[in-house]
Amino acid sequence: MRIISIVIGTLEIPLIRPFITAVRQTSSVKDVVIMIHTDCGNVGYGSAASTPAITGDTTNSIIYAIENIIAPQLIGHDIHDFNQLIHLLHNSLQNNNSAKAAIDMALYDLFAQSCQLPLYKLLGGNVNQIKTCITISARDIGSMVADAKMFKELGFRTIKIKAGINHNDDLKKIEVIHNAIGDEIKIIIDANQGWNPKDAIKIINILEKQEINIAFIEQPVKAHDLQGLKFVRDNTNLTIIADESCFNVPDTLEIANKKISDGINIKLMKCGGIYNANAMYSIATNSHLKCMAGCMLESPIGVNAIAHFMAAKMDILYGDFDPLALIKYNPIQGGATIEKDVITLSEKYGLGIDGVIEGFTIINTVE
Ligand code: MG
Repeated sequence: MRIISIVIGTLEIPLIRPFITAVRQTSSVKDVVIMIHTDCGNVGYGSAASTPAITGDTTNSIIYAIENIIAPQLIGHDIHDFNQLIHLLHNSLQNNNSAKAAIDMALYDLFAQSCQLPLYKLLGGNVNQIKTCITISARDIGSMVADAKMFKELGFRTIKIKAGINHNDDLKKIEVIHNAIGDEIKIIIDANQGWNPKDAIKIINILEKQEINIAFIEQPVKAHDLQGLKFVRDNTNLTIIADESCFNVPDTLEIANKKISDGINIKLMKCGGIYNANAMYSIATNSHLKCMAGCMLESPIGVNAIAHFMAAKMDILYGDFDPLALIKYNPIQGGATIEKDVITLSEKYGLGIDGVIEGFTIINTVE
């Protein structure tokens, strides 16, 4: 199964409502999508989300890296030389992890197809269903309460509240939303770097005294402020998860060694794909760090890839794959489906994706 061409394009999918966090705001998913074609007719799918505020990767930088640097190195190689392909990919250039993630997931898709297994089974999993939480964008309190009630109605049991835009409002928001949805719904609070360490400790210490079913606090302080993150972790009792502070394998090692947080959020766009996600997971679980798996606001192709990864791992406590519930329609034929808060993976080989029906614009084909 030899790689003969790599098609590069863009995919835009409108959201049901704008997605707003402490670092950005958007009304659609805009991904770079790639399709790796082989001489056997098999196609591997991958996608990369442009989130410059978080990863530094833009649509143009992702396309450039794939088109000019990564793709030409892969043409002609057999998918059965999988580790060599992964080695070529990850040594092709520095950083650019979103571009690498798109190619990495497409290579895993093809390798699983060549082994005639769904990807989660190739990775060692045996159950094709996982649960996801759902995110409430940071808006006015009334809108956030309405969203929380709606998602509860729709069957979600863990709700992520985006905080950190105005820390004076955050406690009030969390309390009002909790009162509206009740104790049976778990709450994740994601400050997206929006608090300073002292305010974070104050807010979290108050939350600890309230009877709110809080699963954990995600990324309370600035990504680079590891000292601040550790200070928060050491002076609070709720679980503190590093997201933007933990991109890759070296970050995971540092966080584990210095006990900077209680856990990490593994995302393919941060670490460059499933190969490195595996390494992060191994370091984390061997260092008693808790793991969650998440994604950017990205296309169902990328969500499929991280969902297969999570389904194969025993110790990932929470999945955050809500783009499937936030997009107006799913233009991907095949792949995972969502009902209430349960994602069901395809039993077809690889990611189980058959094609992209709508919204895909071809930029170039590398042969
Ligand atoms: Mg986060």
